[in-house]
Amino acid sequence: MKFNDEFDKKYGYNGNLGIIYSKDNCKFILWAPTAKEVQLVLYGNNGYEYNCKPTDIYTMNKGVKGTWEIELSGNFNGYYYNYLVNVNGEINEVVDPYAKAVGVNGNRGMIIDLSITNPNGWENDIKPKLKSATDSIIYEAHIRDLSIDESSGIKDEYKGKFKALTILDSCIPGTNVKTVVNHIKDMGFTHIHLLPAFDYGSVDETKLDQPQFNWGYDPKNYNVPEGSYSTDPYKPETRIREMKQMIQVLHKNGIRVIMDVVYNHTYVTDGSNFNLTVPGYYYRHNPDGTYSDASYCGNETASEREMVRRYIVQSALYWVKEYHIDGFRFDLMGIHDLETMNMLRDSLNRIDPSIFVYGEGWTAGPSPYPQELRAMKTNAPQMPGIAVFNDDVRDAVKGSFKKDENRGFATGKSGLEESVKFGIVAATQHPQIDYSQINYSTSPYALYPSQSINYVSSHDDLCLVDKLIVSLPENTSESDLLRYDKLAQTIIFTSQGIPFMFNGEEVFRSKKLVHNSFESPDSINQINWANKSIYYDLFDYYKKLIALRKKHSAFRMVTTTDIQSNLHFEEHLPENVIAYRLNGKAAGDIWSEIFVAFNGNNSLQEISIPDGNWTIVCLDGKIDEAGISSISGNKINLPRSSAVILKR
Ligand code: CA
Repeated sequence: MKFNDEFDKKYGYNGNLGIIYSKDNCKFILWAPTAKEVQLVLYGNNGYEYNCKPTDIYTMNKGVKGTWEIELSGNFNGYYYNYLVNVNGEINEVVDPYAKAVGVNGNRGMIIDLSITNPNGWENDIKPKLKSATDSIIYEAHIRDLSIDESSGIKDEYKGKFKALTILDSCIPGTNVKTVVNHIKDMGFTHIHLLPAFDYGSVDETKLDQPQFNWGYDPKNYNVPEGSYSTDPYKPETRIREMKQMIQVLHKNGIRVIMDVVYNHTYVTDGSNFNLTVPGYYYRHNPDGTYSDASYCGNETASEREMVRRYIVQSALYWVKEYHIDGFRFDLMGIHDLETMNMLRDSLNRIDPSIFVYGEGWTAGPSPYPQELRAMKTNAPQMPGIAVFNDDVRDAVKGSFKKDENRGFATGKSGLEESVKFGIVAATQHPQIDYSQINYSTSPYALYPSQSINYVSSHDDLCLVDKLIVSLPENTSESDLLRYDKLAQTIIFTSQGIPFMFNGEEVFRSKKLVHNSFESPDSINQINWANKSIYYDLFDYYKKLIALRKKHSAFRMVTTTDIQSNLHFEEHLPENVIAYRLNGKAAGDIWSEIFVAFNGNNSLQEISIPDGNWTIVCLDGKIDEAGISSISGNKINLPRSSAVILKR
């Protein structure tokens, strides 16, 4: 079968798919245009037992555009179901790709009355206010990492679960040092970005008494929460209710929730629900007929095909409508085509333009689909309203992710000033940047600052602390590591655009030098909250950086023109020193002028500052929005490897 435009024209179906449920009847619709026959299998309402026999099998009727459908009278809430798809001479048992509830390990769909999964007051749940996308400050977290360690103070049955994120008063046991949500709220983050929370395949939900860990980038059922994060994966309604409860609590506490979505590939290839339903259709192929693999996970989806595109957009909208999700982080977004991403953006705009979308503007391997048509970083100007991760500033600040020993601006490597400045202006066009000197890019790719996600680390690769450890000399003292750490994050949190932080950096988290900890044990991945007591000064510094950013709109300008007019880089500076002035008054800030300087050298540097009186708010690893001290004159000493912020 050739899956080309002609096929899509013939079979593209824009009606409802999945189950249309009511208390009186149930309509099942599956899109399977290449199938010879499709049957619906019901397993009764004890269907989570793997070996239980079907209670009923119904042959489905051929509908329009390659669909198969059947309508049954009665209330089927709680009944398990699958489809038997007869295609290419085989009969495949398939979980409905549109299933909204599944049994343990996601091997059977379940018919569900979703209204019973709503926590009390769900109808009054509203998104926390967000004036502008540039007001966002994102905390990237893995649900299990946050609470699995004893030090989280979360009770045992909630550890590693959605439920842990509904607890508001958790502290390190025996102390009043806040942990988990209590901590995230206290720090002032506006968004929590959760690593995959949809149903993934790598954790066995029937063996949760044994420690298991995975990041979760192995999608199984896209429209259902992951079972291992619920208190009972055998009860399909429980994971749905508990995820909603988590979102409700986070919303009540001023935190928006972003889902990490992985529509770019599936966990298994030949045996995926997609492939068992319409073999070959959902994936791209090489000219020789093999699966192409831009995800380096065995396959890549073909978002440019009508029913794949529709699937991705419908799935994301479902999470918004049913779970009140506030944003999406697209894994390997560079695999998807621009048209799909723009269609999603348009659809979200009709619901709420403040729902945020960003992604990795790259792929893991080569794709046969033309690069100019894909959602790559350099094509960001063609996807307004969608942001990309700024790996240019990430690696300029801390060093290349590819080479452990490679250092960055913050750790004294020279020649990276333009790339850091590129992050400071959020990858926008600025007259004082030499774009030929940027480490990976050659042009500004953000139309406006909210298109750039600025960060020094994420769950991928070495975390900041580990990168500092491996790139600096072995005899580097811990107090020096903390010094570099503060400098690196100060650059990010004062930059224009959207700051993004990997969970635990604020408590000096180490992953014991493991780069790709996707299936490492808890001992590598969990956050050790006890660190917060030890590195309280670092935590407090990060917290104050966030408070500074939130209080001062000059760090959060909305338009590129504003940045061009109100952010002026100083010139004739020593090597490895960056300094700039913000016209606070023009940017609507309560401070009329702000001066920011970063000294990437491991030695004191003297630089000129605009003449007059200044209040120092950040100096030598200390930060105080109310002012540390004041200076006057036209010179300032920048302590080694640190940031200075002045205001007046
Ligand atoms: Ca699962």
